[in-house]
Amino acid sequence: MRIFSGIQPTGRKHLGNYIGAISQYVEGQDRGDAIYCIVDLHAITVAYEPAALRQSVYDTAATLLAAGLDPDRCIFFRQADVREHTELCWLLSAVTAYGELTRMTQFKDKSASQRELVSAGLFIYPVLQAADVLAYRAHEVPVGEDQRQHVELMRDVAQRFNARFGETLVAPEVRLPAVGARIMDLQFPDRKMSTTGGSPQGTVLVLDDPDTVTKKIRSSVTDSGSEVVRGPEKPGITNLIEILAAVSDSTPSEIERQFDGQGYGAFKQAVADAVIAYLAPVRERYDELRADEGALEQVFAAGADKARAIAAGTVADVRDAMGVGAVR
Ligand code: ATP
Ligand code: MG
Repeated sequence: MRIFSGIQPTGRKHLGNYIGAISQYVEGQDRGDAIYCIVDLHAITVAYEPAALRQSVYDTAATLLAAGLDPDRCIFFRQADVREHTELCWLLSAVTAYGELTRMTQFKDKSASQRELVSAGLFIYPVLQAADVLAYRAHEVPVGEDQRQHVELMRDVAQRFNARFGETLVAPEVRLPAVGARIMDLQFPDRKMSTTGGSPQGTVLVLDDPDTVTKKIRSSVTDSGSEVVRGPEKPGITNLIEILAAVSDSTPSEIERQFDGQGYGAFKQAVADAVIAYLAPVRERYDELRADEGALEQVFAAGADKARAIAAGTVADVRDAMGVGAVR
């Protein structure tokens, strides 16, 4: 069983990324052949600074390694080091429906928030993402709920390719975490916690110090009620219940029972304490890993070699099936 997922190196990663994606990555190493990449080519689809991007790639890499990605037990690399992704993106664009891309909610959200340029790259982002996964003929894609639509699109692309050119690609399944597939912003609980679109106070960063985590969680927006139960009219409390369930390996119903009769103050403090304990091991290991950029580059280089060995075979098969380039 092959697992593939990518994560953007935009800014610092947050608790939503950790619960929705990173914790699944770590666990995936025990379940199958796991392949993970830092998608720097996706990050260039919105406004960015080249020098800052390189730094963010290292930040994200050190975060993932601190979280428990082990380059001996998974393939871990930087997307732009494996050129097959971009070639496959173009080839797959021939079997991607324009109409489908116009329906992608991520494009609608992100294009609305761009001040200067809505790039064509932002529009074809899901085709590059399809290429990322299909290049490895992955069976499973661990992501948060916001990426479900993109995984459905890549399934369509793989199936359309196979129907048109013969059985070549694998249509992957989405894998969402049991709890916490969509962690919401603590200040705006109707929006997902997000690297680029969130509020600073409503976003708990993986590397936030304990005081900051406590402040953000204690000042999170809740309703005027007093019961710790989930409900459509209680998005803030529902979100905190999901967070506590996810970080304490429990279920939302168990959390509701546990806090029956207790007030919001005590509950928020318990959420803060649990989140701090959950993220502590990552913070402890991060600085040392981040300090050695040479070592991070070595990890990337070794990972890219392994990744390329797989992706090159798929791209060659795709070229053959499509009848482009020299005959092999
Ligand atoms: P951006 O807002 O710029 O898209 P992001 O916060 O969504 O950034 P990504 O790198 O795009 O970060 O996403 C990495 C992974 O984290 C993806 O699998 C995504 O589904 C997951 N993820 C992102 N936000 C959340 C969230 N709020 N809850 C759960 N999972 C999330
Ligand atoms: Mg995202």
